[in-house]
Amino acid sequence: MKYIIYALLFLGIAACTSVPITGRKQLTFIPNDQILSLSKQSYRDVLKDSKLSTNELQVQRLRKIGNRISSAVEQYLKSVGREDLIKGYVWEFNLIESDQLNAWAMPGGKVAFYTGILPVCKNDDGIAVVMSHEIAHAIAQHGNERMSQQQIQQGSALVLDAAMMNKSPETRALAMTAFGLGSQVGIMLPYSRKHESEADELGLYFMALAGYNLQEAPKFWERMAATGGGAPPELLSTHPSHSTRIKNMEKNIPKAEAFAKKQ
Ligand SMILES: [Zn+2]
Repeated sequence: MKYIIYALLFLGIAACTSVPITGRKQLTFIPNDQILSLSKQSYRDVLKDSKLSTNELQVQRLRKIGNRISSAVEQYLKSVGREDLIKGYVWEFNLIESDQLNAWAMPGGKVAFYTGILPVCKNDDGIAVVMSHEIAHAIAQHGNERMSQQQIQQGSALVLDAAMMNKSPETRALAMTAFGLGSQVGIMLPYSRKHESEADELGLYFMALAGYNLQEAPKFWERMAATGGGAPPELLSTHPSHSTRIKNMEKNIPKAEAFAKKQ
């Protein structure tokens, strides 16, 4: 029975999803309420296990930028009839005390920055570069797409059966991995080159919609490249390379600026 449901969901929902702006067709067949519920719980779990920053000034700064970008994006999605992408979203922006040069986002608008990345961001526009990239992962449903891919690879309907409802440890580990936080549960699954490039591209459009300085994007990635060292998950994933990233950004900046002017 569950495979029939699986097939129906697969055919019914997967057929009609596309990423805004880039227009890429994607396969996302995990029901959104399940993704959002898993994400909410995973986010709480990570925050509970983390040391949150007590620097109110920095926390408020981060939230102000996050709210400005997410509001601009929501307004845009409504104007083009894509509210479906933010249904049930409750944005949250938190700052975790950690030296890691990283930030991440889970479905439903759950974003976290590590304090270690702030000096590399340098200014509000730099924070907006990272923030827009993370918001883009959430808007483009990359978490759902990755969970859907995992389901296909495993040939199981785990996510759609009781295990999902009970949020078993296996399902929660699967979700964490899909949301780019696999390192928290000992599994590393960096975002694919396709997802990273798409988050970079969408991020520029989102920055432009919110009125930030796009020239800061390549500068941020140059500073990031200069920090060298290892490559922790998500933001510093090894692909695409910094130079490819910067080159693509320089190509997309005029397009994003022109796009925002038309809105
Ligand atoms: Zn990313």
